Amino acid sequence: MSVYHQDYILKQEQFLTSVHGMIKEALNELGYSDDVFELLLGPKQMLTVRIPVKMDNGQVRVFTGYRVQHSFSIGPTKGGVLFHPEVSVPLMQGLSIMNSLKNGLLNIPFGGAKGGVICEPRGLSFHELERLSRGYIQAIRPVIGPYQDIPAPDLFTNSQVMAWMMDEYSKLCPDQSAGFITGKPVVLGGLKSRENSAGRGIVLFISEAAKKKGIDLNQATAIIQGFGSLGSYVAKSLMEAGVNITGISDAYGAIYHSSGLDMDMLIKCRDSFGTITKLYQHTLTSQELWEKPCDIMVLAAVSNPISKKNVTSLQSRLVIEAADGAVTDEAAEQMSQNGILFIPEILTSSGDMTSSYIEWAQNRQGLIWSKEEGEQRVRHILADAFTRVHHIAEEYNVSMKKAACFAGVYNLAESARIRGWF
Ligand code: GLU
Repeated sequence: MSVYHQDYILKQEQFLTSVHGMIKEALNELGYSDDVFELLLGPKQMLTVRIPVKMDNGQVRVFTGYRVQHSFSIGPTKGGVLFHPEVSVPLMQGLSIMNSLKNGLLNIPFGGAKGGVICEPRGLSFHELERLSRGYIQAIRPVIGPYQDIPAPDLFTNSQVMAWMMDEYSKLCPDQSAGFITGKPVVLGGLKSRENSAGRGIVLFISEAAKKKGIDLNQATAIIQGFGSLGSYVAKSLMEAGVNITGISDAYGAIYHSSGLDMDMLIKCRDSFGTITKLYQHTLTSQELWEKPCDIMVLAAVSNPISKKNVTSLQSRLVIEAADGAVTDEAAEQMSQNGILFIPEILTSSGDMTSSYIEWAQNRQGLIWSKEEGEQRVRHILADAFTRVHHIAEEYNVSMKKAACFAGVYNLAESARIRGWF
């Protein structure tokens, strides 16, 4: 076992421990007894599978995969499948719990699940990837289904992988395949509004949060840290909503202009060169950009997470965590004590899950909704979730991060209690 291997397992165990800590604190605050923690700390069911795949060179390789289902007390479980070398049991467990919390805070009738296969997908040919995707579905078939557990895309899996998985499942269970998986191509029943659903969700949360803070988007300034596909989508959408974008950073540095940047030009540069700051002579560090005054700060990349140390130099009214792990827990609490409205990643990443729910509902009813109808349904759910989490944050005087966790834990614990501790 390499040092690298041990290092990521350790990190993933720490992640699981911190998820447990969040749940425990939420249960205590909400007045549940310790035995409820016993119920929520681990998955209800976890399947480990070995998947033999015939490789292009004729040899057989056996891959290890997982499907972890955290809680069925609200409904069937739901969560993505990731193909990655660092897939592990603690990672799957932690992410399945996070999906339970996410569904709970969104009031979506699902529990959380997560799946994954230990592999290096970039090292597989197109046909090897297809055989692996089909093999995974054959292997986990006993525990999945549209009323049992519904997979979706995640890191290194996409709509093509979902199409193969759907096809495989439809051969195994022909009368059950509608709504068995989400994130499908539109021609197979995928949601027309799925594209950019994550970015649209972030923009919606920004406008809801701006209303709470009395920020008029037409008069506001924003800084976007991270100018990948998500960051640039958010920047463009904010610009269209009238926001003046004054700072941008990418992997190489940052640029800032107090009177605003020419976003059309920057987006063209990014598309042609994959970077913007390398084209500039005078750049700042992302820490220097962090200290610039603005109304809205969007963190769409993690370079160094914002910690208690640098949170004091922030001159922004709204901070949006659009990349996982961009802000430490302590910094999130500190911001809320300092009167900064912080929107945590568990909320900003919920656009995809919500789109999946709408896709599942569309498939189960045999309907096809227009792009506008799909977007509108998603928007309602996200806006309601924002209002609920904001209300909890005020009631308990905690950050939106803790409040989101409280909202999710409440739905999980309450649904289990009302059913008689299911
Ligand atoms: N990537 C998402 C997750 O597992 C997908 C959720 C879904 O659409 O079911 O967190």
